[in-house]
Amino acid sequence: MHHFEYRDGVLFAEDVSVTALAEEYGTPLYIYSAATFRRHFKAFDSAFKGLDHLTCYSVKANSNLSILKLLAAEGAGMDIVSGGELFRALKAGVSPEKIVYSGVGKRDSEIRDALKAGILMFNVESVAELERINSVAGELGMKANVSFRINPDVDPQTHPYISTGMKENKFGLDIENSLKAYQRAAEMDHVEPVGMDCHIGSQLTSIEPFLEALDKLLHFNSQLKKMGIIIQYLDLGGGLGIAYDAEEPPHPSEFGQALSEKLQGLPLKVIFEPGRVIAGNAGILVTKVVYTKSNPTKNFLIVDAGMNDLIRPSLYGSYHRIGEVELSGRQHKPFDVVGPICESGDFLARDRELPAVDQGERLVVYSAGAYGFTMASNYNTRPRACELLVDGDTVHVARKRETYEDLVANEL
Ligand SMILES: *Cc1c(COP(=O)(O)O)cnc(C)c1O
Repeated sequence: MHHFEYRDGVLFAEDVSVTALAEEYGTPLYIYSAATFRRHFKAFDSAFKGLDHLTCYSVKANSNLSILKLLAAEGAGMDIVSGGELFRALKAGVSPEKIVYSGVGKRDSEIRDALKAGILMFNVESVAELERINSVAGELGMKANVSFRINPDVDPQTHPYISTGMKENKFGLDIENSLKAYQRAAEMDHVEPVGMDCHIGSQLTSIEPFLEALDKLLHFNSQLKKMGIIIQYLDLGGGLGIAYDAEEPPHPSEFGQALSEKLQGLPLKVIFEPGRVIAGNAGILVTKVVYTKSNPTKNFLIVDAGMNDLIRPSLYGSYHRIGEVELSGRQHKPFDVVGPICESGDFLARDRELPAVDQGERLVVYSAGAYGFTMASNYNTRPRACELLVDGDTVHVARKRETYEDLVANEL
């Protein structure tokens, strides 16, 4: 139950008609369900209730302030990957001691801001970064808590662009170099190695790769102990997948149980960084058919949402379920659902069986709550969409639709 359901043939977001919202706010339109966000967060977080843990929502999945506030109110910490995300998390009222900072390219100014804010720890991805953190912390007369992101070299069996824990990926440190990095950190005056971290990829639909990575990290931890380095935090990253189509990812409770069995009794606080599993199915994208057209080989639905609004199909070949906002009962035909952008890669779906909808009618693109709006751009000088957060029968404008003036505001 995702709180996006038909009532008398009309799609509702919780207790509000999507048709009514599209009429009032226009399309393309992102609609998020507050109840779904809360439910997903609770389902994930409570899966680890027997363990000392902290669930740090991955801000990049959906970074709207209203979403961050909602999750912070549920007790979420945050996983950030930039100074901009730090700014958002703090602005949303997240306690800094619940913020972890990941990412391969942290700049001095970003490190400084995070230190001043008092975040829980940096997930460090290279020795060069460790040196920078030590030096920036030194300038501030501080000591930075660090974890190293260890690349356990496991195959998460997901799309190569969202696979991050294999030897050839740019992320983290391989196991051999990690030992040297901890040794180096232990010698430094302004860093304190407090944890271990990994994040092996996104949209994982099986538990095995997580367990494999965990085994490698626990083994690594015993090597650290022998070196006299005692850590307190074990950050296992995010990556749990969702059903976009026919995938059958493990339920968070199964995931929690499998991991908890291995983690029970260890003197470590476990950190998770889920993004997609919280946000993905908590949002939809509503779009209107601008034109229909056919040629001898294809039927096209040209819609008003393009790759600038939702790039996942273009970037990863991702599948997003598409349906009518108002059920018509018409016969199905194969369509390419394409946007208005001047790129052949601008599509939301290809060869998709859909009811033969007409110009002016609306479609819903499901599972658009994660990596949807956050990856949106202004390509083709298109204002980014409006974002609404529906809570029961209450509608909150989480982000106004951009105007043309907004688009040129910084151009001098
Ligand atoms: C993107 C990312 C996440 C979240 O991944 P999901 O697949 O959305 O759960 C967590 N941690 C790090 C370091 C990331 O880069």
